[in-house]
Amino acid sequence: MQKLVIKNIGQILSGKLESPVFDGNCLIAIDGKIDAWGNEKDLDCSGATTEVDAKGVTLAPGLIDSHVHPVVGDYTPRQQQLHWIDSTLHGGVTTMISAGEVHMPGRPKDIVGLKAMAIASQRWYENFRPSGVKVHAGAPVIEKGMIEEDFAEMAKAGVRLLGEVGLGTVKDGKTAQKMVGWARKYGMQSTIHTGGPSIPGSGLIDADMVMETGTDVIGHINGGHSALPDDQIICLCESCKAAFEIVHNGNERAAVLTVNTARELGKLNQVILGTDGPAGSGVQPLGILRMIAMLSAFGNVPAEQAFCFGNGNTARQRNLDVGLIEKGYSADFVLLDQAQHAPGKTMLESIQLGNLPGVGMTIIDGIVRTERSRNTPPANRFPEHVK
Ligand SMILES: [Zn+2]
Repeated sequence: MQKLVIKNIGQILSGKLESPVFDGNCLIAIDGKIDAWGNEKDLDCSGATTEVDAKGVTLAPGLIDSHVHPVVGDYTPRQQQLHWIDSTLHGGVTTMISAGEVHMPGRPKDIVGLKAMAIASQRWYENFRPSGVKVHAGAPVIEKGMIEEDFAEMAKAGVRLLGEVGLGTVKDGKTAQKMVGWARKYGMQSTIHTGGPSIPGSGLIDADMVMETGTDVIGHINGGHSALPDDQIICLCESCKAAFEIVHNGNERAAVLTVNTARELGKLNQVILGTDGPAGSGVQPLGILRMIAMLSAFGNVPAEQAFCFGNGNTARQRNLDVGLIEKGYSADFVLLDQAQHAPGKTMLESIQLGNLPGVGMTIIDGIVRTERSRNTPPANRFPEHVK
């Protein structure tokens, strides 16, 4: 039995928008799953196989990047970069979700080929987790001519996602809606490229097409890069039950508009975060933390709630057993503290003032994966991996 005991936690962020901070200074995980948390004196801390002294820093569920474009291993041909996933783990991200492996050189667009690549991508990230990061991949881009059996076949082979609708030849809402319906019937989650074209060859997806298609996630509602006009973003927030995905590589003003609109509508639980990297604008190892700080500062959201956009909300919208402090959920955590010399009386206050926190440790499946981040600003205090 593997038993992880984390002591001297300063505060526990839960990932739950309705109660974002939990009481307690100690957390226990058994065999990679969260077992108990609370005050150390009330918990059975004996027999730890791994022990961490948090030294008073904050523990949060590992962050989730809802929108990445991986290709293979820890390499992206898009920007010719190695180890971008490991670098992102240093920004507190422990789970990534593919919105399509669209940067594969020579990507097959014929139906047999795209199905084969979806299945292969799902497998190679299931079999190989870069630095321990959970990469949910195998997200085919739908193309004209696909039939229901194609979706049944991919689902049977383990494909659980659709890549961004609109990046392929399906550009009309009616066809997209039909295919998204087939995907949903066989348990595949869907997303859509919202807004103007991203790179040469892609096209505009407006609010009408987003609503007609009816994907589970409104992919980059703030554009990737070019956002829709304000009235269309507001209309999507008012009309849709799907997740409002805000990405780092989108329009920041539209991101703030989305959060303000969602708050007014009582729909902050639908807000989730992604980077949309690797992309034309590069990779963003600190992208999710930067979105949390930016939306907290400009969207007037308490930092402990903004964190939920980057872990618990995404887990709930995407039915993952990560991102929340919940018994039986994966013991995936990021430990953070206020950055040295950052203004604010507490870490949360410094984030709400627009500053990044410093990451001191990441843990996935109850195993310490990284210690002091090489990418974030240095924190005031660092947790210690005692044994
Ligand atoms: Zn896109």
